[in-house]
Order: sequence, then structure tokens, then C-alpha cells
Amino acid sequence: MSRIDWATDVLSWLPADAEAAVADLGAAPYRGRQLFQGLWRGHLASFEDLAVWPRSLRQAMSERYRLQRAVPLAEQRAHDGTVKGLLRLADGESVEAVLLPHRYGWSVCVSTQVGCAMGCHFCASGIGGRKRNLSAGEIMDQVAWASAVAPGRVGRVDLMGIGEPLDNYRETVRFLRLVHEPSGLGLSYRHLTVSTSGLVPAMLRLAEEGLPVTLAASLHAPDDALRESLMPVNRAYPVAKLLAACETYWERTGRRVTFEYLLIQGVNDGTALAESLADQLTFPAHVNVIPWNPVPEHPFRPSPPHQVKAFCDALLNRGIPCTVRRELGQEIQAACGQLRRTGALPAPT
Ligand code: SAH
Ligand code: SF4
Repeated sequence: MSRIDWATDVLSWLPADAEAAVADLGAAPYRGRQLFQGLWRGHLASFEDLAVWPRSLRQAMSERYRLQRAVPLAEQRAHDGTVKGLLRLADGESVEAVLLPHRYGWSVCVSTQVGCAMGCHFCASGIGGRKRNLSAGEIMDQVAWASAVAPGRVGRVDLMGIGEPLDNYRETVRFLRLVHEPSGLGLSYRHLTVSTSGLVPAMLRLAEEGLPVTLAASLHAPDDALRESLMPVNRAYPVAKLLAACETYWERTGRRVTFEYLLIQGVNDGTALAESLADQLTFPAHVNVIPWNPVPEHPFRPSPPHQVKAFCDALLNRGIPCTVRRELGQEIQAACGQLRRTGALPAPT
């Protein structure tokens, strides 16, 4: 997969990159910071619109760089307040992002790749494979979309949309720094969640970045045979290795790992499995159970509410904190695992 060239990708610039770019054109560094603020606090659409800049600088930047922001093509609203956006990227590809209402405020679930290479057998995002990585700036632009649509501040970002964030490590980490940057959106690292299907080497690398973000591991089964039947990635990184990496993440960052466990009727929802999971969680952790959201291509059924409760109770009885994720946006196919790429759309002119 080709590397994104940060030297020319304006949306992926940190303030220091913007300062260097304007300095190269003979302008003072604070002009770069004005650009960064204009992009993420002002939703700047072109250099020409940066009114605080002298005309000559606007012109020089327009000649040297292209500023192409994601274009919202469609927005769907669910009764529960969820909004799903279909965003067209500069090359005509598209991704989805979802704005979600909570008691504490607004969060956005963003995509990190066009498609996904992991091929989990329950998810819509992996159907058709991975087309390409998103740049850090393209991930940021989804947050900018959400901020424009939300009635209040978007205070949390979940990297849980289309794609495997740790299969796009370089851009994901840059995104985390970008969205945290105080002169831009200024989100706290604790309010950023990276969800992974379990790419162990990348999880261990993330533990050393000094970014105290929340790590969510998609477990979905406590033993290798069952997990492998649902998630091909388990062949490379089996359950024991995944759990060990989560423990290391907690030790290195002080952040308790969240385990995601989707419940499919008759497949992975037995209480004996919950007990086996509890026995293996020997370090501080939290389990988030999610009744499987229907994806027409996959032949499963969500676990019924009484089974979801029994599974959660089995964990709680063994002292493992467990919550049931409230499913938002199902009616507009905006819930976990229901996002998908729609294929290339006409390229912008
Ligand atoms: N690729 C990353 C992040 C995106 S998927 C990962 O797999 O963790 C976000 C979450 O949605 C994961 O926990 C994933 O397993 C879950 N998921 C996928 N398909 C789902 C479905 N149909 N119903 C409920 N959750 C699903
Ligand atoms: Fe990819 Fe995550 Fe879906 Fe698996 S669950 S196919 S890793 S997006």
C-alpha cells in the first residue's frame, strides 16, 4: 500500500508542518498556525478563504498545494438522533462516519480505511476487501464533518468505522496527534478509542507511543477454534497472545482495555463461554457486549435480550465489569459493523 506523502497532504499537517510550509514561501510561522486553526476550527475550504492571510500568501499556497476536503454526499438521520454521513474523498472513493448522541454529549465513529482486509465473517465493512488506507487528514475530515453537523461539541472519537485502524498504523497515530492538538479540536487522549481486531505487534507498538488512548479489542470468542471461525486474524494472533498484548497495554499506559464481544445467537453467546472469558481476564478489563447487528450477507441472528443479559450476568458474577452497548442508528444501517464502502463515486471536479 503506497505511503501518503505528508509533505503535500495539507489536511494531515500538524501545526509545525504548516509553519514549515509557509516559512518555505517566506511567511512568518504564525501564518502556519492560522492555517491549522482555519482548517479545524473554521472549516476552511480553500486557501483563498483564509481572510487573515495576505493575498500573496494565499496565492502562493494555492499554486503549490491542493486543499481538497471530504464532501458530504448524503446524511441520514435516525429517530434516536444518530446521523450517518457518506463522505466523498478527493479520489472519488467514499467512506461513512456516524455522529452519535449520548447522555454526556456527542461522539463520532470514524473510518480509517476504504474497505477492510481482515474479512471477519460477521461484518459489512470487510465485504469486498480493502481498497486503500485513509490519510490522517481524511480521518480528521470525518471529525470535522461531525462537528459541523452536531448541535453541540463532539468530545469523543471512536476509530470503529470502516477499516482496521492498526492496519493503517502510521496514519492512525498521526490522526490521534492531530485531533488532540490544542490549537485545533483539542480532544483529550482519554476520549479517543482505537478498536482493533487484534493486530498484536501494532498493539504493542501503540503501547509505547506515549498516547494514553483507550484500546478496544474485538474478542468475540474466548477460545481459538471459535474465534478463528469468526475472525481469520486469529490464525496469526491467537487469543492468548491477544490477551497478553492487552495486559501489556494496560501496564504501559495505565489504561484499562475494553473488550468488545458481539453476541450471535447459538454461536458465541453461551454462558459457559462467558465463564471461560472471565477466567482468562486476570488483569483490569471491561467487557462491552453488543448484540450482533444484522448484515444481510451473513447468515446469523442477534442473541435475544434474555441471552444477552445471561451472558453479561455470568461475567458480572465473576467480578468482570460488563455493559451492553446501546445500539444506535440500526434503522439507517449505522450501527457497529454495518458501515460499508459504496464503491467509487464520480470524482470531484
Ligand atoms: N476493525 C476494527 C474497528 C472497526 S469494527 C475492529 O474490528 O475492532 C468496530 C466494532 O464493530 C468491532 O468490535 C467489530 O467486531 C464490531 N462489529 C463488526 N460487525 C458487527 C456487527 N454486525 N454487529 C455488531 N458489531 C459488529
Ligand atoms: Fe474489518 Fe473490524 Fe469489520 Fe473485522 S470487524 S472486517 S477488522 S472492520
